[in-house]
Amino acid sequence: MKNEKERYDLSPKELPEKWYNIIPDLPTPPPPPKDPDDGPSRMDNLNKVFSKGVLDQEMCEDRYVEIPEEVRELYRQAGRPRPLIRARGLEEELETPAKLYYKSEFESPTGSHKVNTALPQAFYAKQQGIERLTTETGAGQWGTALAYACSLVGLDITVYWVRAASSWKEERRNLMQLYGAEVHDSPSTQTKIGKEMLNEDSDHEGSLGIAISEALQDAKRDENAAYSLGSVLNHVLLHQTIIGLETKKQFKMAGDYPDVVISCVGGGSNFGGLAIPFAADRINDGKETEFIAAQSEVAPNLNGDYRYDFGDYAEQTPLMKMFTLGHQSAMPSIKADGLRYHGAAPIISALKNEGFIDTIIFPQDEEYVFDRAKTFIQSEGFLPALESAYSVAAAIDKAKECKRKGEEKTIVFNVSGNGFMDMEGYRDVLGLG
Ligand SMILES: *Cc1c(COP(=O)(O)O)cnc(C)c1O
Repeated sequence: MKNEKERYDLSPKELPEKWYNIIPDLPTPPPPPKDPDDGPSRMDNLNKVFSKGVLDQEMCEDRYVEIPEEVRELYRQAGRPRPLIRARGLEEELETPAKLYYKSEFESPTGSHKVNTALPQAFYAKQQGIERLTTETGAGQWGTALAYACSLVGLDITVYWVRAASSWKEERRNLMQLYGAEVHDSPSTQTKIGKEMLNEDSDHEGSLGIAISEALQDAKRDENAAYSLGSVLNHVLLHQTIIGLETKKQFKMAGDYPDVVISCVGGGSNFGGLAIPFAADRINDGKETEFIAAQSEVAPNLNGDYRYDFGDYAEQTPLMKMFTLGHQSAMPSIKADGLRYHGAAPIISALKNEGFIDTIIFPQDEEYVFDRAKTFIQSEGFLPALESAYSVAAAIDKAKECKRKGEEKTIVFNVSGNGFMDMEGYRDVLGLG
């Protein structure tokens, strides 16, 4: 054992008091969302379905936004601040001169970083007198996080769950139900768009874009309900900056600073959460930090076109400027279903457009990725979520590159969730007995 510290803990008192909004610092801020040329106004729709608290934050131009004391208390109840861990075991296993650190979002009570935005979103809805939230979920982590938050603040919740994942993640469905959620496989018979899709194909495996359309239609027809989104939007990324703000304090404790920041990208919320506070230093302090986004070849949205596109299949959201594969593009299902979304968050897209972000695209069969997760499990002892395995794999590949080139870089990666309910994914792909 070397005598440098392995783990950097902040006390509950050191929990950040403000979220960080990068938009005022961006050289070219993302252009605002807008309505398409024809059809009803989707911008008006936004005002109808979102709670006021998050809508204000969506348009916010302040650099820092106070975290309400009630939300800070909920964050503490959920176990924040979370440790930053030096990956000594992994470094030794890889014989790399690089220094590896990871942020432990897998310590979340429901299994992912999504709790960081679920709690404030539920808090603002409750404060406004809303009774029920509707949402979509892909891998199931977002639905669980929001069900957890709703149970803590006292709201009902309806979840539309992409069938590609709901068909094999029975335990996650039960966890959402334990938190009091009503869960529908999507496409469902609950909404007009769901019925249309089922008419086309009664075994339709669904997509996040379709599930978002269903949750929006549900919220629109009930004046006591609001809709809640787990990634992509500015307010979601704002809430997630708690990850990177904590991590920056922890690097100060360690007397170190990352040369490379890595995470997986579906819509971009966990990547943004870690990366955005460090991207600010690149903009304002001339740091040369590298940012790497890990994606699947079934949904490499950051390599798509940078243009205005809808956020959902049925074109109910406003148009947002983002790197996109097209809002109705078919993406084969993978085990890491949380990474299967057609577009990257407008803020992440703006950073990509500035040349801040490199992407690494992993093969569809996922064996390459889950095999590297196995190396992490055996050297660090934690079980990453299937999506987080992409972050781990990208960090391992970077550490190996450092070894080849003899570079002593400091690398930080986010382990966005735990894989306790993902075992079937690992089993199928790695052929476990
Ligand atoms: C949802 C999810 C992701 C992907 O979504 P982002 O918004 O890109 O973070 C990644 N990891 C986990 C564990 C998730 O639950």
